[in-house]
Amino acid sequence: MRARIALMATTLLLAGCTEAPPTTAVPDKPVEIQKSQAKAPEKCDARASFRPTGALPAPGRMPAGSYMAEIQKSGRLILGTSQDSPLFSSRDPFTGRVVGFDIDMGKLIAKAIFGDENKLQIKVIPHGDRTKQFDDEGDKVDLVINTMTANCARWAEVDFSTTYLEAGQRLLVAKGSKVDGLDDLAGEKVCAAVGSTSLANIAKAGPEAVARNGWGECLVAFQQNEVAAISTDDTILAGLAKQDPFAQVVGLPFTEEPYAVAISKEHPDFTRFVNAVLEQSRRDGSWKDTYVKWLSLLGPAPQPPAARYR
Ligand code: GLU
Repeated sequence: MRARIALMATTLLLAGCTEAPPTTAVPDKPVEIQKSQAKAPEKCDARASFRPTGALPAPGRMPAGSYMAEIQKSGRLILGTSQDSPLFSSRDPFTGRVVGFDIDMGKLIAKAIFGDENKLQIKVIPHGDRTKQFDDEGDKVDLVINTMTANCARWAEVDFSTTYLEAGQRLLVAKGSKVDGLDDLAGEKVCAAVGSTSLANIAKAGPEAVARNGWGECLVAFQQNEVAAISTDDTILAGLAKQDPFAQVVGLPFTEEPYAVAISKEHPDFTRFVNAVLEQSRRDGSWKDTYVKWLSLLGPAPQPPAARYR
């Protein structure tokens, strides 16, 4: 039965690869702690972003000279994300479209710029390179929304919006297993996506961290018994558990993962604009509607995370 489900998951993954497949190679072990963490500033308030300047401009009338005006002129907002993070950004096998909470956050921003949420272009990016998407002028994205934790190491490379969702790392194991924490898995293999904060946390806790290109690939590795468990944000694990009746999420969250939109350091005006859109979504109920639409399996919608500014 496990093998059959693995086959289903593999088929879904392959079906999801018809457009713009991620280009990262499957990393070989051993997994390294992300290099950028070594040069992380000792202290920063990773949740604090730039304060919006006044009210949002009317859609379709972005201020001259702003980065938003450039986006408006280009006719679409380019969002970098993954295609296999269930509930957040995953390809619907029936329509071929990438859908989820993160995509809907992108739609709110597209709507604020154009008055049309469909002027959003999804670019599937390698999970391990989420902070590198703004470098290449020819093939750049305008923002990355991808279950991405704002932390001090990443702030050294990109700017972040205010927090749009709070998550925490937990563990997914086979149903009936007595394991309820990474401590119980010393010497065992535990999967996480390349370049994720989760991978480094697994390595720190003792198990052997196994990197895969995304969460879908971790689920396949788990279903094929290549790894004993998957450990990442509770939000993502809930989506994986929904796809596998033989999996369960266990233990308490043991990290804080504040999700934020990543934006190039060259466009602080755009970060302020995105923060104004997030403020509006907290006030007008669209944040809550999006939570209910995608994340109800986590329980009733909490209050949206309050904005913090630096
Ligand atoms: N939120 C964590 C991160 O940004 C783990 C989830 C993920 O990588 O998708 O690294």
